Amino acid sequence: MTIPTRTLNDGRSIPQLGFGVFKVEPDETERIVLDAFEAGYRHIDTAAIYRNEEGVGRAIAASGIPRDELFITTKLWNDRRGAADTRAALGESLEKLGLSHVDLYLIHWPTPKNGSPVETWETLGALRSEGLTTSIGVSNFDERYLPEILSTGVIPAIDQIELHPQFQQRPAVSLAAQHDIAIEAWGPLGQGKVDYTGGVIGEIAARTGASWAQVVLAWHLAAGRIVFPKSNRRERMEENLAAASVELSAADIAAIDALDLGAAGRVSSDPADAN
Ligand code: NDP
Repeated sequence: MTIPTRTLNDGRSIPQLGFGVFKVEPDETERIVLDAFEAGYRHIDTAAIYRNEEGVGRAIAASGIPRDELFITTKLWNDRRGAADTRAALGESLEKLGLSHVDLYLIHWPTPKNGSPVETWETLGALRSEGLTTSIGVSNFDERYLPEILSTGVIPAIDQIELHPQFQQRPAVSLAAQHDIAIEAWGPLGQGKVDYTGGVIGEIAARTGASWAQVVLAWHLAAGRIVFPKSNRRERMEENLAAASVELSAADIAAIDALDLGAAGRVSSDPADAN
């Protein structure tokens, strides 16, 4: 299985299909991430708040996979802000992961109640210069929050936002595209909160022989987005990875594009409220 890669605006390459570990229990993380590595994943998306960075680190160590074949992302949690604290937080994450650098470090949420993110963002830029993270980006910075980041002149490589067929975040995606910022779609399958098994997606799945999840993931990949669906189950890990070889017609892509409900399609937190 060849996993497609995408070149970021900082020249780095990222596997477009990875594995997310939100809600993977800390004591199950090592086994589940090892299963994901065995299935063929090389890109893992974790975060300090998931409390499973140690398990990810144990899996990396046990896997024997060369470090330069892995792409590891973690995120700065909402209660860590400012230069010294941001620096300390990345240090703690690296220690838990057992790594000397991550491939991508993200500010997890804009948390408008914490005030301006500029000092924190500029600190990510410094941490990148020091080699503690290869790329930097933001998460949940939609069109309301991205402009302040852009005003610093330090352009994120990535914006990781909730995005799935009924919530396509067109204003944020279009602003990101103007700066060649790659979109990572979190909750790419709708987090199990939306029934994508029927309707347009179900019809495409039945006609092409792919599963509904593969159809949705292939739709993301065709748009150039980066995805890391989460599953505790080995067979679904393999099913999701195999979406890389599912090709959709332009008409099928347009039919899924038409499922967007705008803001009404959101199934998780609004960044304005996640403080
Ligand atoms: P997903 O859209 O990946 O959905 C995960 C759910 O779908 C689980 O319940 C899983 O169940 C189920 N599932 C997975 N594969 C299949 C399949 N082939 N068929 C049917 N059901 C399936 O949601 P996530 O929230 O996990 O998002 C993915 C990743 O994005 C996270 O793990 C995390 O890394 C990141 N994320 C980032 C956020 C942010 O604020 N930056 C917020 C939320 C997520 P089961 O495990 O039982 O298979």
